[in-house]
Amino acid sequence: MGALITRFAPSPTGFLHLGHAASALLARGYARAAGGQFLLRLEDIDAGRCRAEFAAAIIEDLSWLGLDWDGPVRVQSAHVQDYRDCLARLQAMGVIYPCFCSRRDSAAAVGAPQGDAPPPYPGRCRTLGAEDVAARMAAGRAFAWRLDQARARAMVDRRLGWHEVGVGWAEAAPERLGDVVLGRKDAPVSYFLAATHDDAVQQVNLVVRGEDLRAATAVQVLLQALLGWPRPDYRHHALMRDGAGRRLAKRDGDVALRDWRAAGYLPSDVRKRLPEWHSMVTLA
Ligand code: GLU
Repeated sequence: MGALITRFAPSPTGFLHLGHAASALLARGYARAAGGQFLLRLEDIDAGRCRAEFAAAIIEDLSWLGLDWDGPVRVQSAHVQDYRDCLARLQAMGVIYPCFCSRRDSAAAVGAPQGDAPPPYPGRCRTLGAEDVAARMAAGRAFAWRLDQARARAMVDRRLGWHEVGVGWAEAAPERLGDVVLGRKDAPVSYFLAATHDDAVQQVNLVVRGEDLRAATAVQVLLQALLGWPRPDYRHHALMRDGAGRRLAKRDGDVALRDWRAAGYLPSDVRKRLPEWHSMVTLA
């Protein structure tokens, strides 16, 4: 493996909180400990939920904390055509299908699947005939592209999994998430595909992120196998929780970094509240 490249990839759907800062510090810690690079990527592909003011706030808050990154910030909304090209490749391989089920069914599936994931899609549109699909498309019906898990898995003739740093081999069971959404009319690509594509083009070889995204990793290693992209190692860290044991969320304004700042705290005060990130850096 070449130099270590890690990244922090927040979605600008709210203000960063302490948990984000801890995650970014850990990813940066791995890179710095190995003399590698730490990248920043804004995952703003879901136009309905992302806002420019949050993107600007992310840059400002990280800078305030002294959390510097290497090279330019990658902004996903500037690379839409690349994601469309990936979808076209998957379509040509016959591993995605158009799904016309209600927006409600597929809307939740575009962002990163954190927290309580919706139950897997039952696959109603998987068996639609070509004529039926053509008629619906001709009628201008909105649709989402879904991954046909069974067909995709059948195309990969090897064990599917990844190296989880500090743990070892982790077996991937992507079918547990069902036929996930990979693209939609109003959000040209979902988190699964955009993040996987970007980790490949940015040559990220260690993905450090919260354990809430562990299930998504199974789908991402499947996409890597299908599209011939390298597979990074992964380090899914525990999530920060509040006093009542609930995971921190962007809606919990009281832990937003900017509130600490507004209350007069210094970056050094905030860093003291973070877990001992340097002792969490294990390169096994
Ligand atoms: N953009 C995702 C989020 O904010 C995280 C992506 C990742 O680290 O893979 O939840």
